[in-house]
Amino acid sequence: MATPPAPVRGMIPERTAAVNDLAIVRNHLSYASSLERRLISDIDIVVIHCTELPDLLTARSYGEHIQYPESGTGNSGHFYIERNGRIEEWVPSERIAHHVRGFNERSIGIELVNRGRYPDWLDSRNQSMCEPYAAEQIDSLIRLLSHLSERLPGLRFVTGHETLDTTLVPATDNPGELVRRKQDPGPMFEWEDLLGQTELTYFAPT
Ligand SMILES: [Zn+2]
Repeated sequence: MATPPAPVRGMIPERTAAVNDLAIVRNHLSYASSLERRLISDIDIVVIHCTELPDLLTARSYGEHIQYPESGTGNSGHFYIERNGRIEEWVPSERIAHHVRGFNERSIGIELVNRGRYPDWLDSRNQSMCEPYAAEQIDSLIRLLSHLSERLPGLRFVTGHETLDTTLVPATDNPGELVRRKQDPGPMFEWEDLLGQTELTYFAPT
């Protein structure tokens, strides 16, 4: 009888039984080792995003794209969660990923695959984000938060990209109108549900 391949497990050796079942597929970006290092004790916030793209493969091509030629790196989250709950790690937590303006050094970025406003992100007529998040996806997110809380001693907060970046930009269809540059994870994300199932506290800048 053929033995199925073992899933790649989370990276902490001293896992508890509760998180031992959490499978995290390591699929690091080609430039992950060029991202700046940090102490994991400096991390206190998890930022929830959605990809605003149709699928993980498309997100990967954006993630691999070099935005900063000097360092040879680009923009991405640390973790990606697919609609079926599958989790991939693209950047290890001890590296600073570029996923949110002003808060990268102290945060972990988690990206949920969701279409958001794709493909007309900044069109004023397309600002509702109406794809619901899958139950499997939210379940994996809650388990990932628990996993991270055990591994990152300074972790206290969780928040959304939309809370940390409130920049307005001209709409692509009508430059006289302003739209939110970022509004993920958006109105379909159930914060009350999440906050009831994590020990992390909601963070908003003062
Ligand atoms: Zn985002």
